[in-house]
Amino acid sequence: MNPTPVRSPKLAILNEPLAATLGLNVQALQSNDGVAVLAGNRVPEGALPLAQAYAGHQFGHFNMLGDGRALLLGEQITPLGERVDIQLKGSGITPYSRRGDGRAALGPMLREYIISEAMHALGIATTRSLAVVTTGESIFREIEQPGAILTRVAASHLRVGTFQYVSQWGTVQDLRTLADYTLHRHFSEVDADENRYISLLKEVIKRQAVLIAKWQQVGFIHGVMNTDNMALSGETIDYGPCAFIDVYDPATVFSSIDIHGRYAYGNQPRIAAWNLARFAEALLPLLHDNEEKAVELAENAISDFAQLYHRNWLAGMRAKLGIFNEEQQDEDLIEELLSMMQKYRADYTNTFRALTFEKPEDTVLSGTAEFTQWQELWQARLGRQQEPKASSYQLMRSSNPALIPRNHRVEEALEAAVKQGDYSVMERLLDVLSSPYAHSPEQVDYSTSPSPSDRPYRTFCGT
Ligand code: AMP
Ligand code: MG
Ligand code: MG
Repeated sequence: MNPTPVRSPKLAILNEPLAATLGLNVQALQSNDGVAVLAGNRVPEGALPLAQAYAGHQFGHFNMLGDGRALLLGEQITPLGERVDIQLKGSGITPYSRRGDGRAALGPMLREYIISEAMHALGIATTRSLAVVTTGESIFREIEQPGAILTRVAASHLRVGTFQYVSQWGTVQDLRTLADYTLHRHFSEVDADENRYISLLKEVIKRQAVLIAKWQQVGFIHGVMNTDNMALSGETIDYGPCAFIDVYDPATVFSSIDIHGRYAYGNQPRIAAWNLARFAEALLPLLHDNEEKAVELAENAISDFAQLYHRNWLAGMRAKLGIFNEEQQDEDLIEELLSMMQKYRADYTNTFRALTFEKPEDTVLSGTAEFTQWQELWQARLGRQQEPKASSYQLMRSSNPALIPRNHRVEEALEAAVKQGDYSVMERLLDVLSSPYAHSPEQVDYSTSPSPSDRPYRTFCGT
């Protein structure tokens, strides 16, 4: 099906480096014809856009979903030979729109653009944002808002929910076709395995363990970890009410609809395991002819997640503290620092950033007896490895971002763009966010934590 045309499309922002990586012509994209494609007013020759069906557990409740306001425009083979999906988000009504209008508001689309590009620069697997166009049409949420369309680039849009859909409403043969396609597209290295469907399950679990550990390490809260928002490729997908923590607190929730804190920062690893169990359930008929055996295989794979996650998390946290080798006590050292941060409401990013310099900058922890004691233990720990201190600090600088998309900075950029049509604030923000590990003087302004009046921060989704 085709996108629904919009009244007067204008290019709001174009990701030129990404366009080049994809092998797309920047000038062509900026031309009237290019903008018409990005707006859904013109379908590229030969393309057959489609809305993908999927199901999903939303806050634990199973629903039939599908692309309600998005269309897969097609696939692009990059100059490096990688296959990616190009999707328009906000492109109009589809068979899966339910009561929605099929549209998206400018603010949330720019927000997805900023956060997904920041995640990419942080070295975290993510869908990318190629462009945002404004539609010249108003959409109505609580208030009237300018409409927009985001062009999203993804390794694929295969989700846990895609398998749930086929498991619920398709045949076992459909399920096999989908699993084979997924293996072929994302896991060709295990495609020839004897029991390739178990390999598929294990590989998806592995990638999620890597991904969620990285989220935790930078303080990212996805906000809606429904099973339809978990991509099998291992990319972060569907940026809604996501945000980064300032003060360290595992109970942090930003999303206004997450009333019970199901998707709180500290719950993300557990929720990932829960979602993966739903994936395993969907795969059961392929895992073994004997149902009991299939369940056993699935349970074994799922129970590995906790350990895999923990291993990734610990490795990442060691790097954040400049530790190269492994000692039994390392986890205690890490946990002690985190609990001090929680107790004194220290800024997560800036505490690690401060430790990254041989002469630590002051933080709210400086001057407390606990922290002084902790630093002594930490320095002693750094002494118990072959690598010189200089290497530790180098490792720390590449493991601790100086910059994350601070909530107040994101809001400021969105406000200027949406209310004044001024994109310069956002462009500057994107520019500094593109090198989060640079630890350069230009970044300092962007790394300050918000004033207490900016808290508590609330994010909204479904807009
Ligand atoms: P999301 O919260 O963006 O992950 O979306 C959850 C589900 O609601 C997906 O099936 C979306 O396609 C659908 N959806 C969200 N917003 C709209 C909208 N404005 N119109 C139609 N469907 C929507
Ligand atoms: Mg979604
Ligand atoms: Mg969506």
